[in-house]
Amino acid sequence: MTTIALIAHDRCKELMVALACEHRELLGRCALVATRTTGGLLKDALELDVQCMLSGPQGGDLQIGALIAEGRIDAVVFLRDVLTAQPHEPDISALLRICDVHNVPVATNTATAKRVLLSLTAP
Ligand code: PGA
Repeated sequence: MTTIALIAHDRCKELMVALACEHRELLGRCALVATRTTGGLLKDALELDVQCMLSGPQGGDLQIGALIAEGRIDAVVFLRDVLTAQPHEPDISALLRICDVHNVPVATNTATAKRVLLSLTAP
């Protein structure tokens, strides 16, 4: 089964819910992993089955990075708030780096995310 990791910084969480709503049918057929707050929102808003890791600032990004390193994630949607300094910036950089190391598609804005999600619907 395709596994997608979903992460959104606070100012991008509404965008993430809207994106997930738009792709609800696809996401419902995938295994989903998310950082805690993002995952909780998706569960509440869309009743999606989401495995929640720790919150990003508590190490959730690193937990998802470890799953990527183990080859257990097929795609990442990581909606970042690039206008606000994040206390866990090193963890964010590490997550993006590990995606590149393992050639895992990572979308950091909704335009790319839509393309990536659409590609997952193709046979
Ligand atoms: P959150 O973490 O979903 O728990 O807010 C996201 C992040 O800041 O990386």
